[in-house]
Amino acid sequence: MSCESGPFSASAPSGAGVSSTPGRAVVDRTEPGQIICVENILQIYERSVMSNPLYDTLFGANQGRDTPFLFLPDGSVLSYKDFLAMAARYANTFAGLGLEPGDRVAVQVGKSPEALAVYAACAQAGLVFLPLNTAYTVSEIDYFITNSTASVFLCDGAGQDALQPMCQDAGTQLFTLNGDGSGTFADCAKTQPDSFDTVARDGGDLAALLYTSGTTGRSKGAMLTQDNLLSNARTLVECWRFSDQDVLLHALPIFHSHGLFVASNVTLMAGGAMIFLPRFDLDQVIALMPAATTMMGVPTLYTRLLGDARFTPELTRHMRLFTSGSAPLLAETHIRFESRTGHRILERYGMTETNMNTSNPYDGERRAGTVGFALEGVELKITDAVTGANLPQGRIGQIEVRGPNVFPGYWQMPEKTREELREDGFFITGDLGRIDEQGYIHIVGRNKDMIISGGFNIYPKEIELLLDDQPGVSESAVIGVPHPDFGESVLAVLVADGEQALNLGAIDQAVSDGLARFKAPKMIKVIDELPRNTMGKVQKNLLRDQFRDVFQG
Ligand code: AMP
Repeated sequence: MSCESGPFSASAPSGAGVSSTPGRAVVDRTEPGQIICVENILQIYERSVMSNPLYDTLFGANQGRDTPFLFLPDGSVLSYKDFLAMAARYANTFAGLGLEPGDRVAVQVGKSPEALAVYAACAQAGLVFLPLNTAYTVSEIDYFITNSTASVFLCDGAGQDALQPMCQDAGTQLFTLNGDGSGTFADCAKTQPDSFDTVARDGGDLAALLYTSGTTGRSKGAMLTQDNLLSNARTLVECWRFSDQDVLLHALPIFHSHGLFVASNVTLMAGGAMIFLPRFDLDQVIALMPAATTMMGVPTLYTRLLGDARFTPELTRHMRLFTSGSAPLLAETHIRFESRTGHRILERYGMTETNMNTSNPYDGERRAGTVGFALEGVELKITDAVTGANLPQGRIGQIEVRGPNVFPGYWQMPEKTREELREDGFFITGDLGRIDEQGYIHIVGRNKDMIISGGFNIYPKEIELLLDDQPGVSESAVIGVPHPDFGESVLAVLVADGEQALNLGAIDQAVSDGLARFKAPKMIKVIDELPRNTMGKVQKNLLRDQFRDVFQG
């Protein structure tokens, strides 16, 4: 499609569906009905003088700075000034295509500075950024485009032919943006001005739409407001002490909230820089670590680093902080990491719908196997899954959170929104957890992963922790599979560490010594590798499918 095309009218109402505004960081409630504090003076001031809080705070504040923003693997450096000029050219391109504030821009492209500049351009032009996993197939993309009624879709040139017919049917303009920054979108932008009049937006306006939970039925589009993103970035900068002296080693994808919002927004807000790698490449990460001060990773990145002899105390001595999230970090990895490097990984917990909820402390004890405490301004409680009542400290229940970080709902899914977001603003995360005597939060698993066998509730994490400790076991996943007698029964899937022989008899014995009988796996399967998604999460749904019939007949 040509960039000369005139005003484009396939726009839905701006910020559609964002009428409720729990994303606005106005009040902090600890008890229902009790208003504790109004947001601080600085934030009120920021809002009153800013025309577009997200753009102005993350990007505009860095306008004109000649300092490095992105260090690239080929040795080149992109300054803030040049990055923002590119973003302005992109914003002009979108405006030239007739896009209006609130329109969705869907993006399925490789990670590159240009891809990040599309995010900045959307913020500046008041558009809703909709990043998509590069692994999604044409039929999955079809759903996202149709569901979001995106006005523009940017994809890699290699996928253009397959995706064009679907875009045509949906009335979505398709442009290409390749990993090297070339493509029809970049061509259109070349001749555009380097500056753009930032479109006025409000903190409650929609900034991004992120589809989530593809493993449990149809994906839902989590709507994230400007305030959701800004409040969380502000909290994390403070909590993790980010500054303009920081250089973040960025090897995460930017279609997910971890790499996009946690890593990039925090760096932008602090005015720091990133070593921006297209993907996690062990050699590259090791070669470039000496130039970094911080790294954010998912657990698998840390286990891969630990598997390499070049990952030494010397390599990491200068580092200020390693954080981990998106999937559980095994306590064993935490401990091995510390004994190898002297650094204690700071584990935090969040999700697409809420950004970050909890973090281990920067200064205090970073406790292995826990996700720390609720972040400043975030309320977290453990409730009974059936009654919704608060549970006493120490009991396992569903984790609910409320705060300025929590999204206002799912895109055009009011019923799903009502099921998961309570009227009082608490979001039912779907995770199970408990709070220990010192207040540290432990994630016990996903609600849907809980096994009910013969009427007993069984939490897989407890069994996995014991299995992981057995000689010869590298890791484990415990799942519930259909059983004619018990409804569901416990199946343990093990991966051998290849160093010591696996003794299944000894493992059975350790399980019966350590756990009540009803929790003991009725069967153990050994496989080469646990199935994981790109963020390192074990895909238990695939294991459940694979082993669904083991107790039948
Ligand atoms: P996503 O929406 O893709 O970011 O996935 C969010 C889910 O990842 C959460 O609901 C948790 O189940 C899981 N998760 C994120 N961080 C952690 C963590 N530190 N420990 C355990 N699970 C986590």
